Amino acid sequence: MNEKRKYSKKYCRYCERKVDFLDYKELSLLKFSLSERYKIMPRRLTGNCKKHQVMVELAIKRARHAALIPYVASRKVIIDNPFESFK
Ligand SMILES: [Zn+2]
Repeated sequence: MNEKRKYSKKYCRYCERKVDFLDYKELSLLKFSLSERYKIMPRRLTGNCKKHQVMVELAIKRARHAALIPYVASRKVIIDNPFESFK
């Protein structure tokens, strides 16, 4: 079992922050569940709880509709950290 774990410790980051409702405008919170290609990360990788994963999915889909997050990332341009500008 020498496999290197990509995601060190699993816990729900939204429970940690005591998030009751996830707003689609809060990209700093949504970024925990987005891959570098703006895909929604599955729960088995992020460690989110079911309640927050459902909220994240809804919020990300709303944010995409509002053009805050792109639907697809360009294949040629892979950005290492697309959320640097949000910090
Ligand atoms: Zn949670």
